[in-house]
Amino acid sequence: MTKYVLPDLDYDYGALEPHISARIMQLHHDKHHRTYVDGANHALESLEEARDGGDFSHIAALEQQLAFNLSGHVLHSLFWRNLTPDGGGEQPTGPLAGAIERDFGSFDRFRKQLTQSAATCMGSGWGALVWDPVGARLLTLQIHDHDSHTAQASIPLMVLDAWEHAYYLQYQNEKARYFEAVWNLWNWKEIAARFEHVHEATWAPEQGRARASQSPGKRPAPHAPTGRA
Ligand code: MN
Repeated sequence: MTKYVLPDLDYDYGALEPHISARIMQLHHDKHHRTYVDGANHALESLEEARDGGDFSHIAALEQQLAFNLSGHVLHSLFWRNLTPDGGGEQPTGPLAGAIERDFGSFDRFRKQLTQSAATCMGSGWGALVWDPVGARLLTLQIHDHDSHTAQASIPLMVLDAWEHAYYLQYQNEKARYFEAVWNLWNWKEIAARFEHVHEATWAPEQGRARASQSPGKRPAPHAPTGRA
């Protein structure tokens, strides 16, 4: 069975200082993220055991564990790559800049929307910029925990960790300062490249059935996202 693996950081723990401290990065990556990787692998093993033993009595709990931990792994892997010590307050250029302008009105409005999405999350969660292949547009989503209040089919491009473990050691109760500081670290080149991989991906969930009814007996291939996430 393929296992999920904790990815290395592309930079040193202290490379994002003064905006995010080395101690936070070390704990966040080595302890918190690792817990999600281990949790996802454990859930998969337990599901395999359940199938082997023919005992599905714990399926609900196992699938909840899988969704939570795998989503935590995905979002943290993305978050580390979204950040860079060489970020520095500049704005994206190219197709991503155009799409932000089109879908949010301006970069400044997008920045306020994503920051507020993260900052107002009750409990633990994330603010996320996603590509919605159904509407072929950028959206922000306020993801609760790692896996609730998201939108099916959306592809995350840029995520902002709003869990207390992401800032509390350094910013304590002043979390607004953390949500501003992180704008000094965005790796716009990386985020723009992610966007360019997926921005032609569209998906009409209803389309397969509509086509099938027009030509009975010949089932069309499912219309799946073509972009690489
Ligand atoms: Mn986190």
